[in-house]
Amino acid sequence: MSLEKIYSFIDAHASAFIGDLVKLVRQPSVSAKGEGIEDCATLVEDMMREIGLSTKILRGERGHPVVYGEIKSKKTAKTLLFYNHYDVQPPEPLEEWKYGPFSGEIADGKVYGRGAVDNKGNLVSRLKAVQAYMKTVGEVPVNVKFVVDGEEEIGSPNLEPIVKKYRQLFSADAAIWEFGGTDRHERPNLYLGLKGVLSVELRAKCALKDVHSANAPLIPNAAWRLVWALNTLKDENEKILIEGLYDNVLPPTSEEIECLKNIPSEEEALKKELGLKQFLKGLSGVEALKALLFQPTCTINGLQSGYTGRGSKTVLPREAMAKLDFRLVPNQKPDEIFEKLVKHLRARGFGDIEIIRYGSTEPVKTPISDPFVSLVAKTAEKVYGKKAVIYPLSAGSGPMHLFRNLLGYPVVSAGCGHPESNNHAPNENLKIESFIKGVKFVAALISDFAS
Ligand SMILES: [Zn+2]
Repeated sequence: MSLEKIYSFIDAHASAFIGDLVKLVRQPSVSAKGEGIEDCATLVEDMMREIGLSTKILRGERGHPVVYGEIKSKKTAKTLLFYNHYDVQPPEPLEEWKYGPFSGEIADGKVYGRGAVDNKGNLVSRLKAVQAYMKTVGEVPVNVKFVVDGEEEIGSPNLEPIVKKYRQLFSADAAIWEFGGTDRHERPNLYLGLKGVLSVELRAKCALKDVHSANAPLIPNAAWRLVWALNTLKDENEKILIEGLYDNVLPPTSEEIECLKNIPSEEEALKKELGLKQFLKGLSGVEALKALLFQPTCTINGLQSGYTGRGSKTVLPREAMAKLDFRLVPNQKPDEIFEKLVKHLRARGFGDIEIIRYGSTEPVKTPISDPFVSLVAKTAEKVYGKKAVIYPLSAGSGPMHLFRNLLGYPVVSAGCGHPESNNHAPNENLKIESFIKGVKFVAALISDFAS
């Protein structure tokens, strides 16, 4: 089947597609605060129905709903599944946005707003590819399924029971993951796996109330208590000091190292963009990529205690809080790392520090040798006119392990972002040109997967 008809449909309807994306961006859906979730799920379901998908809202015992959609092919039993999410990261700090984070403003050929790329842009690009088939050919050449998560940005804590309960709905021959895009040289980037993540909060609580700092010789200070505890977790050489943390780390295979060598260096551009002279420990080249993709991390995401307003205040804070995340690599497990963290703090005399566990996901990868990987790479090369860059892992995280490890099919991540799309940061934006290319890529992929 020729894709030309489908491509012209996509070009002719580009502004209507953008209009639908803007509508979705304008609907806040911040999972961390539970803001706008149900409304956004309804909007996604409506969008699917309009295209002709049959839909279901899947609910677990707790948490936000998953929007499920599918469309059957008369031609084949083969099924391609798309995993996306409709929830977004909190937009803060608000003062750094050029346009409102939920304005969906269009400027300089881009759509601005939280979720414009991550992940509403990617979701809409896939839905519109299916729509293009329905409106031109009248059917899809393979069965297509959509799983649209409502809690990806908080670690998908409730997806596992839903996947287990609706196992049949989630069955497929292969899946395309939520994210991806082109790099600074317009090369499509594919990701074959994810690091895991474990998010925690540490709380130090001392006196029952804040007191005058004149009492410092007698009253314990929660801010210092927390700083001392944090100081035991990692040293200045980036080595994590939690006992046994590196025990299960799998080093990259020789095939994966070859893959890393093929990844074009974007170091200088990234350093320039971030205003940095060098990366940590002066890392560069394959060594930098090895650290980025195959080393676990321990990151302070935020710290809060005492007075942080204008001027000074001589106060001694009663409470201090830090949010942390650990990025995990094959074969570490979140449960294992959490237990090791608890044991570590207790052993060093910080049994008083409260440890709250938030979301976590396992690390996961699809092998480079899987035939689905070469299929996606060939399609990407055809559509983008440049050889795909293959990352054996992504430094990011998500619930991919439920699909790859539990359900057992290959998963590749590819999407329509670009290097300055500012995912998770202020001024998130999607280039309209990349979005339209992304719709065509998904259309071509559906066709190649069918044949
Ligand atoms: Zn995200």
